[in-house]
Amino acid sequence: MQACTLIAHAKINLYLEVLGSRPDGYSEVAMVLQSIQLADRVELKRRQHGIHLSCNHPQVPLDATNLAYRAAELLQKESHSSAGVDIHIEKHIPVAAGLAGGSANAAAVLVGLNQLWGLGLTVGDLQTLGARLGSDIPFCVQGGTQLATGRGEILEPLMDLEGIPLVLAKPRSLGVSTAWAYQTFRSLQVDRTLAARPNDTVSSLPQLLAALERQDPQALANSLRNDLEKPVLAAHAIVGELKTALCSVGALGSLMSGSGPTVFGIMPSLEQASQTRDILRRQFQDVDFWVTQAVPTGILLEPGPPQL
Ligand code: ATP
Repeated sequence: MQACTLIAHAKINLYLEVLGSRPDGYSEVAMVLQSIQLADRVELKRRQHGIHLSCNHPQVPLDATNLAYRAAELLQKESHSSAGVDIHIEKHIPVAAGLAGGSANAAAVLVGLNQLWGLGLTVGDLQTLGARLGSDIPFCVQGGTQLATGRGEILEPLMDLEGIPLVLAKPRSLGVSTAWAYQTFRSLQVDRTLAARPNDTVSSLPQLLAALERQDPQALANSLRNDLEKPVLAAHAIVGELKTALCSVGALGSLMSGSGPTVFGIMPSLEQASQTRDILRRQFQDVDFWVTQAVPTGILLEPGPPQL
């Protein structure tokens, strides 16, 4: 195989609970992650030597800090391969949005180069390598609906939520750094004790898992939780406004994804999702909206032209 194209799906967090700090500087978390249809296209072409990267989005770094570049470099090193690759990323996932765009790109490079370079690595091998680059990469390799614990790299598949309709809303000029969100969460000491103040209605993981098991969209919408909302909402009022607006025009429930600022609403139908998007587009002119849905895979190999 000389070339391949991968569809790298974004993710949302249906649940993100910060359980504590770890000696390695990461936070101990319990998350429920869901792949969504919104995706980047990652094209890989074999070359004799070196790693070359291009991307259609001006905010994406093209040097060795790009996660997709780092994934190729890591595979090269670990497999003692001298082969090279041209990587082209066609961005559709907004950048620094809490949707794991960079992690999805890195996962696509791991999956694609495993084929292109004929490395014969298992999904588990690719996830272990991915975890060295970023906590969301192991999830992105496999995708679907999964419980993620540890720093996000310990995965347990859950019942698929395929097809559930969603509206995403992202303030156009706002990006949130994941490191900032976790640090601010810690410095505000919004820990489990404070999060459980009597006035707060904080949902629990068993509640969300039961809703998933029943495939009940309203119960799911009632069980959403993201501990990182507190610091981000305090700094960016628009995020709270979007949550409220989504629920006032048809969403069963809404939540910020990951470290934000993207907010999603769970919708009763795709038709209602389109209506909600159209209404909110008129109200919020500096916000981008998408209608999307849950999908059961992280990375898909795009079918190539038929082999003659
Ligand atoms: P996560 O939810 O995993 O924390 P995110 O969706 O919030 O990630 P990304 O879109 O992955 O954020 O981008 C975060 C930062 O990573 C960007 O500001 C960018 O500089 C850098 N980055 C590195 N590689 C990529 C990539 N392939 N695509 C987008 N951003 C990348």
